[in-house]
Amino acid sequence: DQYLEPSTVETVSQYACQRRTTMENHNQIFTDAFAILAENAEFNESEGPCLAFMRAASLLKSLPHAISSSKDLEGLPCLGDQTKAVIEDILEYGQCSKVQDVLCDDRYQTIKLFTSVFGVGLKTAEKWYRKGFHSLEEVQADNAIHFTKMQKAGFLYYDDISAAVCKAEAQAIGQIVEETVRLIAPDAIVTLTGGFRRGKECGHDVDFLITTPEMGKEVWLLNRLINRLQNQGILLYYDIVESTFDKTRLPCRKFEAMDHFQKCFAIIKLKKELAAGRVQKDWKAIRVDFVAPPVDNFAFALLGWTGSRQFERDLRRFARHERKMLLDNHALYDKTKKYLKKKTTNNYLALNDVCSDLSEWHYKG
Ligand code: ATP
Ligand code: MN
Ligand code: MN
Repeated sequence: DQYLEPSTVETVSQYACQRRTTMENHNQIFTDAFAILAENAEFNESEGPCLAFMRAASLLKSLPHAISSSKDLEGLPCLGDQTKAVIEDILEYGQCSKVQDVLCDDRYQTIKLFTSVFGVGLKTAEKWYRKGFHSLEEVQADNAIHFTKMQKAGFLYYDDISAAVCKAEAQAIGQIVEETVRLIAPDAIVTLTGGFRRGKECGHDVDFLITTPEMGKEVWLLNRLINRLQNQGILLYYDIVESTFDKTRLPCRKFEAMDHFQKCFAIIKLKKELAAGRVQKDWKAIRVDFVAPPVDNFAFALLGWTGSRQFERDLRRFARHERKMLLDNHALYDKTKKYLKKKTTNNYLALNDVCSDLSEWHYKG
């Protein structure tokens, strides 16, 4: 009589792209801990542990309830001994000593600070740390360091761009971008992507995909947009990366974060309302990414730039292992067929096959 219908016994998928994830995180105390441990592993170039902590965090974000005892972990994928030990520590003591150790670690704190500067990667941060520096002031005061143009902008606008971008600011930037692009090509396609497309309330930047319905016309779009933003006096920094797209190249077997589309990493000056009588600058510097794929790659570029990183990683893993296909930001390839799928329509069909019911609740930051 106590027979359970098979459909009521829901198993949780190991793939983020197969899990429903709402914006509501019932397990933030655990996912925050995993985010710190993943970041520390990244700083130490421990790829395996880094991935394990990120996977665990992604899984816990998808649960419809809070974990309240280790019994709740039974049957869940993506949790190893290390991650389970962290959860059990938090359940028992309210915090995890490993996480506390990382937070107090001098190297972690310093690398985190240095990599928070736009244009500073792990290698550069380590170099500065090895010089014995602990603050941004010390780094900036060193005349022996040659800063890139990107890092100079990073220091100059540090306070603004290290503050979160809110939805209203993203929408305001979106309006400026949309209006400016319309002046160049009235039929252009401008799509907000990244975390804000997933419904996040705030982010570290604003991401846009821009293209034209006519193939090939998109190659002029980004340069002209940059020109116009510059003429409006609101472009504080930009770095255009030209397209290196090679249609004959097959996607790499390994997860490939980079794509070959023309893109631009920019900093835009956004006017803001000031509280009456306050003496302060009336604008905020906002980090903006533009990507300009040709329209026949648009669906894949949009999928790839929507994120989250874990969702993208698992979508590629799912395609490879469960569908014997290769997915990247450009296309979806059927490994069982010897040829490259050329027609957009074929690609769309295959895309539908991989993500049969891809919709908002699948995404999660
Ligand atoms: P945040 O709020 O921190 O900006 P986000 O999810 O929007 O969160 P981004 O770093 O802006 O994060 O990247 C958005 C998505 O675009 C990522 O999930 C990633 O898959 C993709 N992406 C980012 N940078 C690149 C790149 N250089 N090449 C290809 N894809 C990228
Ligand atoms: Mn973003
Ligand atoms: Mn971005």
